[in-house]
Amino acid sequence: MLGLMQDVPLLLTDILRHALRNAPEQQIVTRLVEGGMHRYTYRDAGKRIAQLAHALTEMGIGMGDRVGVIGWNTHRQLELYYALAGIGAVCHTINPRLGPENAGYVMAHAGDKAVFYDATFAPLAAGLSPYLKSVEHYVELCPEGQTSQNDLKAKSYEALIAGKPEEFNWPSFDENTACAMCYTSGTTGKPKGVLYSHRALVLQSLVSCLPTSLGCQQDDVCLPVVPMFHVNAWGIPYGALLLGMKLVMPGPGLDGASLHELIVKEGVTYALGVPTVWLNLLAYVEENNLDFGKLKYSLIGGSALTEYLIRGYDKYGVRCRQGWGMTEMSPIGTVNMEPPGFYDKPVDERIEFMLRQGKPVPFVDMRIVNEKGEVLPHDGKAEGHLQVRGPWIIKAYYGSEESALTKDGWFDTGDVAVIHPNGQMQITDRAKDVIKSGGEWISSIDIENAALNHPEVVQAAALGMPHPKWDERPLLVVQLKNKDADLNEIKEFVNKQLPKISHVDDVVAVDEIPIGATGKVLKTKLREMLKDYVLP
Ligand code: ADP
Repeated sequence: MLGLMQDVPLLLTDILRHALRNAPEQQIVTRLVEGGMHRYTYRDAGKRIAQLAHALTEMGIGMGDRVGVIGWNTHRQLELYYALAGIGAVCHTINPRLGPENAGYVMAHAGDKAVFYDATFAPLAAGLSPYLKSVEHYVELCPEGQTSQNDLKAKSYEALIAGKPEEFNWPSFDENTACAMCYTSGTTGKPKGVLYSHRALVLQSLVSCLPTSLGCQQDDVCLPVVPMFHVNAWGIPYGALLLGMKLVMPGPGLDGASLHELIVKEGVTYALGVPTVWLNLLAYVEENNLDFGKLKYSLIGGSALTEYLIRGYDKYGVRCRQGWGMTEMSPIGTVNMEPPGFYDKPVDERIEFMLRQGKPVPFVDMRIVNEKGEVLPHDGKAEGHLQVRGPWIIKAYYGSEESALTKDGWFDTGDVAVIHPNGQMQITDRAKDVIKSGGEWISSIDIENAALNHPEVVQAAALGMPHPKWDERPLLVVQLKNKDADLNEIKEFVNKQLPKISHVDDVVAVDEIPIGATGKVLKTKLREMLKDYVLP
């Protein structure tokens, strides 16, 4: 028997409606690409989103149309998120660091009908245009009269929306309608399109606002450093408005000095980003004898949180909280929420817990399986392929006829993990990066974490290298602060922290460890750099 409740679709438009009712005076602050700061209220944002929806409609953009967006985190991109979704179109965010080849590929694959881009990315947009047959409109996210000089004949965003009505009659449609799109970064093969639905993003946003999920509140001041061009800035553009938080958009200023200025001046209490960002910021604050103002939490994900960061921020009273997810999961899978009283304990007693990726948020199911697909126990020892299921997890890639799931309906994340008896999941590696030594799996993350505790190590990557007896043994590659640091001493320092099986056989230094489009170490490239290397 079916329930007798109203069948109202879950649409992102209702997040906007709620925000405008609940916190019309709340602020959104942006560091502008064209220089200076922009500051307005949710109420003003609502008006401009309506104006943009009118402009889009007049451009002939409507239900199901994909629109490419190449931009920094700004109020303008936030407006695009809501206006496009609100009219039933698809906001296709593009990672500018993909480079012209991959960016061109994903935009052609998505069939984008229009492209909106920040001035910084005007050269990229101009370079792509010959390949983008489907694109009918180019719009530069800039004030009137300030478009870049090139062949695109782009309109300025501000001119586009100026004078349009400040209200829009938002349509209603099926909650499974697509609203946003993001391609995986293509570190393994061609990028693949992930197409989000209103229902998936509404549900994830609701869950992310639970006190036991991200743990933000209305009086938090939120700084998403994690880019809106990659997996919806972890859902913050929706979650922040649902809660009514002040939102601080960093624009193009992602260096230590710019972020620090925003954090202190705007009173940021909750920030989100990948470890490399937090590493640079910490170095800046330490070198200049500063502090973090009112910052209380930084949510760290995208790659593993390290002991170095936990301790570094702890000294300033800033708490690092780890989250795990992926493009295919919209992206939130776990948040490592601390139990009550956790921070009464000294940092030494907190590290082990904090290095884990955490428990799944509500509605996400998780299991680990071995090579045969057999489900493994949650004993903190058995390592297996991490598979997930839930209402905001992919079932098929865009344009593919095939299911992306196992026969019994799970999505294989490509990560390898253990699940502890208390329910915390801990990633030990990406499946392709696992080091296989004499039939045992060695976690490259554990080795990297140990290496990053060394004061001379700026960046670290552990690779499995061919070995005649053990199949593979770990090699540690480091980027050093001082080129003359003693590699033998680093090796000893690292091995002391690890079980014998994980001891690194050798340490080599490179000038720079390659970092990919989403701020993570590019192990494929590193392997190419070391293709002639042989373990001693
Ligand atoms: P890509 O890096 O391919 O673009 P995503 O940005 O979607 O893909 O990243 C997802 C992957 O990032 C996960 O499968 C996992 O390997 C890694 N990852 C994300 N968060 C964490 C974390 N907290 N700890 C370790 N790895 C993480």
